[in-house]
Amino acid sequence: MRIIFIGAPGTGKGTQAQWITDQYNIPKISTGDLLRNEILKKTELSKKIKKIINCGKLVDDNIVTQLIKKRIKKKDCNPGFLLDGFPRTVNQANAIEKINIKIDFIIEFSLTEKLILERIQGRRIHVESGRVYHIIFNPPIIENKDNITGQPLTIRDDDKEEKIKKRIKEYKKFTVPLIKYYKHTTKLSNIKYYKIDASYTTLEIKKNIENIIKNNLLK
Ligand code: ADP
Ligand code: AMP
Repeated sequence: MRIIFIGAPGTGKGTQAQWITDQYNIPKISTGDLLRNEILKKTELSKKIKKIINCGKLVDDNIVTQLIKKRIKKKDCNPGFLLDGFPRTVNQANAIEKINIKIDFIIEFSLTEKLILERIQGRRIHVESGRVYHIIFNPPIIENKDNITGQPLTIRDDDKEEKIKKRIKEYKKFTVPLIKYYKHTTKLSNIKYYKIDASYTTLEIKKNIENIIKNNLLK
């Protein structure tokens, strides 16, 4: 099972990816998480990456594609994987096509800018694991502590209002053309394309995605 989640920042991709990983035993591969973990290493490259992410811009296609290629080679990807936030550009999609990575289905998350801002402004994360919380909609058991490790949660530097707006602009510039590209190519291939309304509760969206996955497993 190879799935791609596409959607603007804050539409709930990471939140849904979390239960899929547990339920279907496939890893969630988020390029955002991979890049944030790369930043923790404090190398020359990581300084560059940090600067780009903190401006709300997209990281260079080659850097993210190399990270993905390396990650996909790991054994835990044998039963499949869920790509969360990759590809984000047509170039990135072409890069995985070139190495013959076949995708079963793509789910696009759709949400208004108003709700995106509301969700991102309450987001708290556990960087090492990529676990995501919301101060109102999905609070941790102990305030500001990760449920599993008890370590402190953080607010992402790029989750400030003006940076979210920049990220949404980048999404419109680079990822909306990718959506058009996928809508066209999926018509000519076996890949299924679904668009979901991400304004519902986490549980309602989960049910919707569960149905999509079940329908695909039956085929
Ligand atoms: P993305 O991975 O698309 O950037 P996240 O999964 O990190 O989005 O979700 C953004 C924020 O919104 C998080 O704080 C998360 O807890 C919260 N959230 C996710 N899904 C929902 C939902 N259906 N309703 C309310 N809040 C949500
Ligand atoms: P995310 O965690 O998905 O919200 O991503 C956070 C940031 O990481 C983005 O704003 C980009 O700067 C960078 N990033 C994540 N995934 C990609 C990607 N596929 N291509 C380019 N940049 C990315």
